[in-house]
Amino acid sequence: MPRIPIDPKHKTDSPFDFPKLRLEKNERARIIAIEELPLMEYVHSLSAPVISNGQVLMEPDGDTTKVKEEFLGRYICLGDPGVLEDKGQAPDSCPVCRAATETDAVSFPDRRFAMHVVQYGNLKPGTWEVQAPFTVTVKAWLYTDRIYSQLVGFKEEVGDLRLHDLLLGPCENPYYQKFDIRPSTKRGVWLSKDEFKQQVGAAYRTNQTPYLEALIGRRSRENLEQELQRVVLRYQQAYGGGATAEDTADVIADADALLGGGDDIAASVEGASVEDVLGGEGVVGGGSEDELAGILGGDGDAPAPAPAEAAAPEEAASSDGESGKADFAELLGELPQ
Ligand SMILES: [Zn+2]
Repeated sequence: MPRIPIDPKHKTDSPFDFPKLRLEKNERARIIAIEELPLMEYVHSLSAPVISNGQVLMEPDGDTTKVKEEFLGRYICLGDPGVLEDKGQAPDSCPVCRAATETDAVSFPDRRFAMHVVQYGNLKPGTWEVQAPFTVTVKAWLYTDRIYSQLVGFKEEVGDLRLHDLLLGPCENPYYQKFDIRPSTKRGVWLSKDEFKQQVGAAYRTNQTPYLEALIGRRSRENLEQELQRVVLRYQQAYGGGATAEDTADVIADADALLGGGDDIAASVEGASVEDVLGGEGVVGGGSEDELAGILGGDGDAPAPAPAEAAAPEEAASSDGESGKADFAELLGELPQ
């Protein structure tokens, strides 16, 4: 094995290194929803009873006790995108959706969203007022349908969200990231000075993660099936009745049969779902308002980027980790220099 220096350039690029928008207790944030088309995926959040030395662990629950559960991870649903959009579940094409029709150990998927946002630094304490010096940070914002619905409402209220800063907080509960959000009725602070526009444009152009999807959930048929088996077996051990080990195997075998089994199917499902979700258009759409198009320097017809590759994080890193950045650079490259 070769020896390598301890140096950032040899560090493995992890999707989880990218800064995420999270508020601490009582913290406020002021952000620019710079992207019009968040990434959306249907996701299974898997958790299971904790089994230690063959024993089901219990934890206090008020005056009584309950089975202690642990979170195992989020997996992107393998269901057919068209069916998911239609029905919100896809028992015919996803083993977890299928299992959810037969056991309470797992649930149907939830929609989860991810997009880049620009967060202002240097807020005057206790307010959303932006102070000098002007600083911004690009972060990934991960959210659920609840916030997506709020954003839809804000857009109806004020129009293009890129033109109106969003005011978040104060955060009531950091664990659940519970905080109010409202749009500023005034134009965004970043639009008030040319130097701010340049700073935001430059920050956005140069700080993108190609791993937004990985931040939403893992896309792996093999791992998902293994985890499904683990969850169902533990659930059965904790709650008894219900599925047996054979039933679990049957659930997976059934799903395999329905899917035709094999990696080829999995690969085509993966490719199709990303294309469908992205609609072949990419993360940033053409400027909808002439005003914004003017600011971004374009004519409103932003070039359509190539569809995102349906690659797992490690694959993306080894093949062409820069492609995502390049797409964005092209899109926002038209901002004033
Ligand atoms: Zn599913």
